[in-house]
Amino acid sequence: MAFVPMNDLGRALSAQKVRLTAAFTEVVDSGRLVLGPQHGAFERELAEYVGVPHALGVANGTDALELAIRAAAPADRHVVVTAANCGGYAGTAARLAGYEVRYADIDPATLLLDPLHLASVLDESVAVVVVTHLYGRAADVAAVRRLTEPLGVAVVEDCAQAIGARTPQGAVGSLGDAAAFSFYPTKNLGALGDGGAVTTASDRLADRVRSLRQYGWSTKYHVTSDGGRNSRLDEAQAAFLRVRLPGVDEGNAVRRGIIGAYASAAGERVRVLEAVGDGHVGHLAVVLTDDRQGLVAHLTEHEIGSDVHYPVPDHHQPAFRDRYTDVSLPVTEEMAGQVVSVPVFPELRDDEIRRVGDALRTF
Ligand SMILES: *Cc1c(COP(=O)(O)O)cnc(C)c1O
Repeated sequence: MAFVPMNDLGRALSAQKVRLTAAFTEVVDSGRLVLGPQHGAFERELAEYVGVPHALGVANGTDALELAIRAAAPADRHVVVTAANCGGYAGTAARLAGYEVRYADIDPATLLLDPLHLASVLDESVAVVVVTHLYGRAADVAAVRRLTEPLGVAVVEDCAQAIGARTPQGAVGSLGDAAAFSFYPTKNLGALGDGGAVTTASDRLADRVRSLRQYGWSTKYHVTSDGGRNSRLDEAQAAFLRVRLPGVDEGNAVRRGIIGAYASAAGERVRVLEAVGDGHVGHLAVVLTDDRQGLVAHLTEHEIGSDVHYPVPDHHQPAFRDRYTDVSLPVTEEMAGQVVSVPVFPELRDDEIRRVGDALRTF
């Protein structure tokens, strides 16, 4: 019996080999390697897909968060607020941008930022709230904006796990002041290496990000924005992403179906976080259990891969925990001990899906 992997990028790569290779050949033949025609076309196609006027390619998702925070932050404020259960990317980006990071607790039903707790940590020192659409589930950005708008706080969406998720108010990436996407290979839209993008409806924020991603230039060699850096999406990655973008919705639907199969199969000792409808793109299949060690051992015994997203809440990370000794996030802390991710990717085979479902039932 072969191992059921958490992910196997080789399956999509071999299925798409001809088209990816043709895209690469086109880049080689064009002689344009940075900010060329493929990059421009990808920015237009992504903007249209998200339903905003602007998408800006950058080097990775963490850079996208950093540049979105820098561009959207109102002046003279020093705090960024986010949830502490999302892998720490927003905190990394905020610290790089020079902000202190403050955490709000999460909702135990969705594991997303809890607007009630958020309200208790907001004040006029806060520049930006980063809302993460965790595991592929669109968060309630409108509820967050009702709290942030009266205080003049900007909202940045972290869409790294949720490309294609749609809400009645619009797709993720169109709901905040700006949004960050990652095209790390395992994301629902993956490059063949690193990549990222910022989306925004604001002409002003788009101009800011365009300048910040390239040394703070307005035009070549003229630095007009402080805080600039080099963070560009390669032409070849843009070409690969153009091959894959049209397939994102179909892949997302397959992911939702797989998680649905797990939810129907699961026994009483696990709770599968559901992924139902357009508001969830099934990036991760996450189950909750009060016996994580036991479940992981059971999965391993059945030759099924698993992982934990994420085991250490940000405020308990050794690098920062001294700054957060007085911070208590009871739901975040409890959930960090219960989450287990099981395999979900569009190329997972039916027999593999059945084996994961069976293991969730027999645990
Ligand atoms: C992957 C990820 C990021 C970071 O993206 P990189 O491209 O790896 O820098 C940010 N936020 C979330 C929620 C992610 O899953």
